[in-house]
Amino acid sequence: MSKFVFVTGGVSSSLGKGLTASSLGRLLKSRGLRVTMCKLDPYINVDPGTMNPFEHGEVFVTDDGGETDLDLGHYERFIDENLHRDSNATTGQIYSSVILKERRGDYLGKTVQVIPHITDEIKERVRRLGRDDVDVVIVEVGGTVGDIEIVPFLEAIRQFRREVGRDNVCYLHLTLVPFLPTAGEHKTKPTQHSVTELRSRGIQPDVIVCRSERPFPESLKRKISLLCDVPPEAVVAAVDAASIYEIPLVLHEEGLDKIVCDLLGLDRPEHEIDLSGWERVLERVKATRDSVRIGLIGKYVNLPDAYLSVVEALRHAGFGHGVGVEIDWIQAEEVTGMLAGARLDGLDGIVIPGGFGERGFEGKIAAASYAREHEIPCLGLCLGLHAMIVDYARNVAGLTNANSREMDPTTPYAVIDLMDEQVDVVEKGGTMRLGAYVARLTPGSRVAKLYGEETVSERHRHRYEVNPRYRGRLEEAGLVCSGVESKDNRLVEFIELTDHPFWIATQAHPEFKSRPDRPHPLFAGLVEAAIDRCEQRTPRLLDLDAVV
Ligand code: GLN
Repeated sequence: MSKFVFVTGGVSSSLGKGLTASSLGRLLKSRGLRVTMCKLDPYINVDPGTMNPFEHGEVFVTDDGGETDLDLGHYERFIDENLHRDSNATTGQIYSSVILKERRGDYLGKTVQVIPHITDEIKERVRRLGRDDVDVVIVEVGGTVGDIEIVPFLEAIRQFRREVGRDNVCYLHLTLVPFLPTAGEHKTKPTQHSVTELRSRGIQPDVIVCRSERPFPESLKRKISLLCDVPPEAVVAAVDAASIYEIPLVLHEEGLDKIVCDLLGLDRPEHEIDLSGWERVLERVKATRDSVRIGLIGKYVNLPDAYLSVVEALRHAGFGHGVGVEIDWIQAEEVTGMLAGARLDGLDGIVIPGGFGERGFEGKIAAASYAREHEIPCLGLCLGLHAMIVDYARNVAGLTNANSREMDPTTPYAVIDLMDEQVDVVEKGGTMRLGAYVARLTPGSRVAKLYGEETVSERHRHRYEVNPRYRGRLEEAGLVCSGVESKDNRLVEFIELTDHPFWIATQAHPEFKSRPDRPHPLFAGLVEAAIDRCEQRTPRLLDLDAVV
């Protein structure tokens, strides 16, 4: 049977519970264990799909079309497994299914209550993840111990251990051990309070991971051990790391995987850890020297989490080429005012990411135009592809005032539009093309060369498409549609230009599939073109031959 690790957090939000859980996942996987992960989110939205990115950051899309919490992106990047919509459950989803069952009469006239009905539903969702082909399920409980909304989740995971057996469950609690400059020492009180709060819900942590800005003495671990009633070796210091990809190694040094495996009876010789693959990734991270400057033209640039997977994909591409990637966050609305200035010229590459709504769209089109005319490598993702198509339609194909119907319902040339079959559903509240779709790439095209294959699957999250009615006009004007959706042959998935260093866009979100040790080909291609541009302008800045 599968074993379960529950990760809770205390003291403060944003301590990196998702990264701690992901790092543990990486360590267990590196021990040859089959790992899956799940996030329980205490908010009432059914999924983050309807949330403003300013509120919640990026919506991470799974192959099966789940719109999920951005932590699932970390999970996938760290454990290198594709997750699914069931890997994220929210209070909203849990209540919806309980209420549905109540309406159907499934509870046979009983009073429906948080305990047992909501807690049973939570447990059932966790239990379902423990399939025959999974050794360990890591469950992150969102929010912070002490929040009102988290209580049913804590109660459910408390009951869970009783039901599946003590040796099959481990509770890991993440806290903060702050250093107080005025006192000149680290403080354990917040950890003590947080553990007391967790205990008041009936959960005694097995392992306490302490986030800390700087290393703290062993004596402090002994103090936490004594006061929080865990063995000293189960107090793990998670000192700030230079890169998130170092965290698994930091936690391994501290013995986290060993203590978890001991507790779960998984510390068998065949589960000797092999971290060589991950260490190779880190060597590449460290080998990155000079950097290229990539402008990210977005609407939510004040909250970089809104573009988390794009940023990580750029970093991975940098690891692959042995260069750092410096991101210049550019507010799309401000691009038009920048055209005369040096800011865009100073970039080695541009990414126009996805997004919704009119604000900033003209700036994205202007950036696409500028990149096209000034040979700046440019990668468009989803809405980015829309902006690049509109630029080409207006400025090359002569379709004056062309636009996306999303931005201008009365445009004379709706080069980006809803497909007929969608209009009806969208008017009724709308649905999106979500999840993995297979595209066929044109043999010999740049994208086919970058991918090294002609059939590719990427994840989608959008409503609007390149309007097939204008495809001919755009192609006659020189735009290459180098990939189409495989089933209907009609929906444009990739575009490119032949006489440009790199002006490529996709209707999909390839950023979701990039991994630190397997950079996504489109991002790798962009960074390679950015390196070329950087070298042309400042020769010998990047001595790439020296990079292994
Ligand atoms: N707003 C656009 C659409 O709905 C693009 C969405 C996106 O970039 N994810 O089609």
